[in-house]
Amino acid sequence: ITSQSYVFFIIGASGDLAKRKIYPTLWWLYRDGVLPKNISFIGYSRSQLTIEQIFENSHKYMKIQEDEHDIYEKFLKLNSYISGSYDKSEDFENLNSKANKISHQVNAHRLFYLALPPNVYESVSELISKHCRPASPGWLRLIIEKPFGKDLESSNKFSQHLNKLYTEEEIYRIDHYLGKEMVQNILVLRFSNRIFSRVWNRDSIAGVQIIFKEKIGTHGHGSYFDEVGIIRDVIQNHLMQILSILAMEKPRSTTGEDIRDEKVKVLRCIAPIKLENVIVGQYIDDKNVPKDSTTPTYAQIILFIKNERWDGVPFILRAVRSKALNERKAEIRIQFRDVPGRMFDEELSENNVERTLARDELVIRIQPDEAIYLKINTKRPGEMNFSIEETELDLTYNERYQGVKLPNAYERLILDVFMGSKINFVRSDELQEAWRIIDPILAEIEKKKLQIIPYKFGAIGIREAFDAAVKQGFIYTRTYVWEDD
Ligand code: NAP
Ligand code: NAP
Repeated sequence: ITSQSYVFFIIGASGDLAKRKIYPTLWWLYRDGVLPKNISFIGYSRSQLTIEQIFENSHKYMKIQEDEHDIYEKFLKLNSYISGSYDKSEDFENLNSKANKISHQVNAHRLFYLALPPNVYESVSELISKHCRPASPGWLRLIIEKPFGKDLESSNKFSQHLNKLYTEEEIYRIDHYLGKEMVQNILVLRFSNRIFSRVWNRDSIAGVQIIFKEKIGTHGHGSYFDEVGIIRDVIQNHLMQILSILAMEKPRSTTGEDIRDEKVKVLRCIAPIKLENVIVGQYIDDKNVPKDSTTPTYAQIILFIKNERWDGVPFILRAVRSKALNERKAEIRIQFRDVPGRMFDEELSENNVERTLARDELVIRIQPDEAIYLKINTKRPGEMNFSIEETELDLTYNERYQGVKLPNAYERLILDVFMGSKINFVRSDELQEAWRIIDPILAEIEKKKLQIIPYKFGAIGIREAFDAAVKQGFIYTRTYVWEDD
């Protein structure tokens, strides 16, 4: 008996995602010995290329070390490339028969990664299902990347299309934020620490911010972003995913279905967003963005979850692209309510500080430089009176966990697909709920009902957005000082 074989297909092998992410990730997983033994990789796209050319393109992203050349050669030998269309049955029949030959098995498990522009998702997913299914007991898993539609309607239409061809079991929708260490850590932080689990609700939490900042041009997309905009590209997927994990009830177990059930449930409790709680902006003087464009490069959405745990607590989702930002970051800020009963205020006002105590704030920095810090008040060391100082309980990963290598999101997620673990993939009902929440805002922007606020180089943010956050009760004291060494 030969042992079970696996074939990993990269459909769109000539493209950017394949080059920068998929091939390097497969190489690292292979190098680290975590992939199944009998495996082959098949690249497929229309371009006439050789596998050597594909690897040349990817080479600089693979970061091959001196002592890895032998194993790299082995990896290369397991790869092949086939060219063909995205819309002809005979090309996928050809792909199927070549895959059978390459794997020496008609029932090899098959994983298909669609690294393609969305205009060909429908035909390719149909042709794969029709012509490239393995014989039993081989299984098929289909991996797809955003965008999953451009609004609720197109997303539902695509989901229905997939549902006709695949079981939900077979579909792995990637949201690479779910592969990030700190996003995965939210579950552990919340549900394994009594100190957090008891206060994770409206009684103790005043507001939650989920912040994403990125430099324009980091992906070289240019005008692509003009079509998509930051709400579709970041908020509808990454930030909504983070929100659902932060806010969901405790799942019954750590299985994918139990976790995703809770994520959907909390999304269902999100009330329709009021227009006054949406601020959109556009970066000006970017040559790539047409002047009459209504596509936001800045968006802040404040939403409310109408359930017993969260009623009245603002969840502020802010995503920003700018050339000015020296800070590229994604972080979560959980701000706790004021301490009731003012015992220390007098001392504070003696020092001419006209405010109550600074609030505790838990910050989870997702990227870069993973960290969790809890901003707290402490007695100013050495002082004879009750002078109070803001400080932090600090868990900075690269200090506490020196030498621990955190796998990147794609490594984790691709390995998850091999293992059949669905925790970190987006189920169709989650996707539908996220679109249900976001869709009306996009419609209003298209109808030009929302004023787009321009911002430019040097701006730290949009004043109106900070003001809106403050109006919802979020307090920014300007007094916190972080002393980095
Ligand atoms: P891409 O490079 O533009 O396209 C991948 C391949 O598809 C191309 O090499 C090309 O191959 C084929 N192709 C391009 N335009 C086509 C068209 N109009 N009709 C038919 N085939 C076409 O795309 P990508 O950047 O790799 O992204 C792939 C998918 O991943 C997209 O859905 C994208 O939104 C998503 N994604 C990408 C990234 C990223 O970092 N690049 C990140 C997140 C999500 P042939 O001409 O050889 O057939
Ligand atoms: P902070 O400076 O008190 O808070 C900054 C937050 O307030 C950001 O979310 C910022 O939003 C927001 N903000 C800025 N101006 C505002 C305004 N006018 N109105 C309302 N909100 C406003 O404290 P921090 O960011 O937690 O800490 C300061 C620095 O210390 C950061 O660079 C942090 O990375 C560093 N630090 C690092 C560690 C660690 O590595 N372990 C620990 C503690 C602190 P935007 O993000 O949208 O600008």
